[in-house]
Amino acid sequence: MKKLLILLFVFNIKAASAQTAENIIIITTDGFRWQEVFGGMDSAIANNKKFNQDDSAVIFKKYWADNALDRRKKLMPFLWSTIENNGQIYGNRKLGNKIDNANPYWFSYPGYNEIFTGFPDTLVNSNSFPPNPNTNLLEFLSHATKYKNKVAAFGAWDAFDRILNEGRSKFPVYSGFDLLGGNNPNVTEKKINALAKDSYKPFGEEEVLDVFTHYGAMNYLQTKKPKVLYISYGETDEWAHSGQYRDYLNAANMVDKWIQDIWNYVQTDPLYKNKTAIFITTDHGRGDVKKEEWTSHNNSIKDSYQIWMAAMGPGIRAKGEVKANQQLYQKQFAQTMAAILGLKFTAEHPIGEKIDLNRK
Ligand SMILES: [Zn+2]
Repeated sequence: MKKLLILLFVFNIKAASAQTAENIIIITTDGFRWQEVFGGMDSAIANNKKFNQDDSAVIFKKYWADNALDRRKKLMPFLWSTIENNGQIYGNRKLGNKIDNANPYWFSYPGYNEIFTGFPDTLVNSNSFPPNPNTNLLEFLSHATKYKNKVAAFGAWDAFDRILNEGRSKFPVYSGFDLLGGNNPNVTEKKINALAKDSYKPFGEEEVLDVFTHYGAMNYLQTKKPKVLYISYGETDEWAHSGQYRDYLNAANMVDKWIQDIWNYVQTDPLYKNKTAIFITTDHGRGDVKKEEWTSHNNSIKDSYQIWMAAMGPGIRAKGEVKANQQLYQKQFAQTMAAILGLKFTAEHPIGEKIDLNRK
């Protein structure tokens, strides 16, 4: 009898812990369209001389297949294998599954504010907006004993200092060309700092190439072991604005590979293995109706409020591509991420209701 009780106890613990994650890694790739997430490379854009950078053969060879399911897997092989098999992917409007910006602007600062505060504040209306007055989820978590000094953010774009209100929030936000490691950088941080300083700077001093943000974040994950880590990639948006479809696709394909690297690391480190969720999304969509509008986004570009989201980890049911006919909003992500950790996010502003990723 005693043995049985112990056994029941062990099973109970296991069942309970399987319902939530202890750690979360949040990943965004700026302005990456749901059209490519679910349909892969768009041949109309790829064939357009204005956008294919004088070489459509290379992208057709790398990313083309006759049907959308094969195409999307060529572009994002990790999303459409491991995440599809073990997690959930939302936003395929062709199946009636919709996620929209609730904010009326459809560009970056309002989008990231909405993701992290759950509040589509109409006062947040510019990318040059000052430090965000709204409490965000990362800040909320960093105040909980469990997550104190265990929250960090890495963003390719330097606006994240303001978006996440680094000054008030008190957790580290490494954005743009910020030097890694503070006064005491390790060997890897020194190397990344030197490489970034001397790198090609196609986006000026405001935004670093994604590769530096990624390796900075990976180093932090491996050495500081945060429980909550945010990584923001920016190249998908930048190359799209430049009309460089090849670079846009390659940037997305690289983000997919990096998500795989993150997941492989997480699942081999006992501190993280089977206790860590990943949450992946974007700040806004882009145009599509007139094909040339794919380069742009804002409330005068039709449909650029349309976004997508994916998640995988403990407590997130393996549903794959979610085909339910439903309307979701970006403002629901903050509470959804809190729920993944088994918490309820509260703040001085309204917060969109969670999406239940545990529901059958
Ligand atoms: Zn943009």
